[in-house]
Amino acid sequence: MMDLIHSVAERVLEGGEITLPEAKEFIGFESWPEVLELAAQATRIRERFTGKEVDLCALVNAKAGLCPEDCKFCSQSSHWNTRISTYPLMSADQIVERAAVAKRFGAQRFCIVTATRGLSDQDLPLLCDAVRRVKEEVGIVPECSLGFLTESQLQKLKEAGMTRYNHNLETSESHFPNICTAHTYQDRLRTIKMLKANGVEACSGGILGLGESRQERLELAFALAELDVECAPINVLNPRPGTPLESKTPPDPMEVIKTIAVFRFILPRAKLELGGGREVNLRDFQAMAFLAGANSLIIGGYLTTFGRQPVHDLAMLKDLGFTV
Ligand code: SF4
Repeated sequence: MMDLIHSVAERVLEGGEITLPEAKEFIGFESWPEVLELAAQATRIRERFTGKEVDLCALVNAKAGLCPEDCKFCSQSSHWNTRISTYPLMSADQIVERAAVAKRFGAQRFCIVTATRGLSDQDLPLLCDAVRRVKEEVGIVPECSLGFLTESQLQKLKEAGMTRYNHNLETSESHFPNICTAHTYQDRLRTIKMLKANGVEACSGGILGLGESRQERLELAFALAELDVECAPINVLNPRPGTPLESKTPPDPMEVIKTIAVFRFILPRAKLELGGGREVNLRDFQAMAFLAGANSLIIGGYLTTFGRQPVHDLAMLKDLGFTV
């Protein structure tokens, strides 16, 4: 088995690709020695194609809750009784203030997120203003995650200074109808293709632990590779009280580490971003994710849950030899 890991790694290092049967073999590993070898080779691939640099991205939940969509993992959906605090769209001043705080604790990227099906024309001027000011006044790279959007809205955000847009596929095409019925996987795919067609970097990934099989995790990774996404966030389910997935057991640390390593084989050049759920699910194994191919991190907390203090993340990345 170690020979197979090595030969596939050499092929990827030379610019070739891992096949689906090989990825299936790897994602079936059940013991640490195999997973650690996979991680070591994923680290070689990461270093070859993306070096030792790590991206740090902070989020602001600029409009919380009351989302009309029915994503089963999400505490911001109006379909579930999750009792989170909700608020309307923040002002541009509030968003800019949050970006300044994010910059102070070390983030280089700042993503403005709203809990919506899509962007309304009414909110567009405020969000463009926020994007412009985050870039020019704060000096941090603005990104957005505002749901579905039209090509003309995308152009306006781009003119304001946005270079990357987040729109997660969330899971595989085959599993998607089990986690959301208000919109389709194809709707999401179309949005990501529109980003790429308009010269905007695509940040798209998913959540591990939504009840998908290992094969479906691979489907997600190969779909992201086909879309040629620049950044792929890998979140791990943090079951939220009141959602239909509140009783789901998330994957254990070995499963997450192994999945990150396999994603690195499939997406050798992308930023693999460790996102929500990492503290509760990886616990003492968070650093291990960066020794398995991850090279981007969401810091300073998530949309409806807290994260650990950025100072701990910065120390961890320094100890691992990454440069920010
Ligand atoms: S994941 Fe996004 S689209 Fe789905 S319910 Fe939550 S906020 Fe709405």
